[in-house]
Amino acid sequence: MLIPAIVSAVRQVIGTQAGPVALHEPRLAGREALYTQQCIDTGWVSSVGSFVDRFERELAAFTGARHAIVTVNGTAALHVALLLAGVKAGDEVIIPALTFVATANAVTYCGATPHLADSDELTLGLDAHKLEAHLHEIVGPPADDAGSSQPRAGQSHACINRVTGRRIAAVVPMHAFGHPADIDALRRVCERYALPMVEDAAESLGSLYRGRHTGTFGMLGVLSFNGNKIITTGGGGAILTDDAALASRAKHLTTTARAAHAWRIEHDAVGFNYRLPNLNAALGCAQLEQLPGFIDAKRRLASRYAQVFDAVPGVRFVAEPPESRSNYWLNTLLLDVGEAEQLPALLAALHGAGILARPAWTPMHQLPMYEQCPRMDLSVAESVAQRIVNLPSSVGLELAR
Ligand SMILES: *Cc1c(COP(=O)(O)O)cnc(C)c1O
Repeated sequence: MLIPAIVSAVRQVIGTQAGPVALHEPRLAGREALYTQQCIDTGWVSSVGSFVDRFERELAAFTGARHAIVTVNGTAALHVALLLAGVKAGDEVIIPALTFVATANAVTYCGATPHLADSDELTLGLDAHKLEAHLHEIVGPPADDAGSSQPRAGQSHACINRVTGRRIAAVVPMHAFGHPADIDALRRVCERYALPMVEDAAESLGSLYRGRHTGTFGMLGVLSFNGNKIITTGGGGAILTDDAALASRAKHLTTTARAAHAWRIEHDAVGFNYRLPNLNAALGCAQLEQLPGFIDAKRRLASRYAQVFDAVPGVRFVAEPPESRSNYWLNTLLLDVGEAEQLPALLAALHGAGILARPAWTPMHQLPMYEQCPRMDLSVAESVAQRIVNLPSSVGLELAR
């Protein structure tokens, strides 16, 4: 009875429109055509232009980050953010097992190894307590537990995984489906182990934790403007930071590390061609103007889902965690543990009814290229990955009502 009850609850929310209902569609209902036409009219379509500068300024203002550096996509932003946080070849970087593959791939691009950590069933983000216990086990007590605040002779500050012998270089919390992870607790763990935190906020543009924007708590944060995110530039991403030196380094590295000179073409490092073209930034400026309305629409859609699923036993609608205000990028249903085996049939039934729902990502350690990664117990990530259903969440479902 669970499956028909879920299909009918989703229908109550999204209506009986004909044709399949996508998981997430962009909404280009503002000045997108006007701004991109300006790029075409002026010839500023490529890697520099006024929309790039404006988009960076407006992203910084919107998120409260001091600096925003836009990039060709979110994965590229994450790659450079990790390099700037000091991740080097041979290091390990803690990431959630339950994330989009780009988080792990960006670590790999640095020559480092993802070290997979478990999720918290409430936030679907990294479990801070489990992470701390795991670090205690593989690294030892944090410096401030060693009985003295002085580093002992011969002991470096490096955080070494005693099992693999590799340095743990950073922690990357990810705000799953837009819901803020338990960021204060994670930040405390990072501070105790002197680990830089780089937030994968690709999904959480517009989400706040204790009133502050996600992606602004770590040394660096990363956004994505891929076609399926809350706003899109076609493809795009951004690095957020409060640190002026990191910001200028980020700009430098993402623009082929070219030395400033009127005509000489010189580069002082192996940089990346990770610039966001002006054409894409023009889309971004138009999308950002609509973002407050998108967030309102998504929150209204989420509260309608929450209401109908309140009456459906066997499932929990994933609500924003305490102390948080979520952008509800994707609406998520979590089947009760006893109902997990119904997931394949449920997804088939939803698709049969024209509702293009999706399961969670396959956890990283179940992908062939990451199955050998060091990891902690991942029982929560494994369990929730078998019970998550993401429901149609386009802004247009609400704004078109
Ligand atoms: C979308 C996404 C990214 C990467 O963004 P792209 O712009 O697609 O490269 C990274 N991490 C997470 C969690 C994402 O959802």
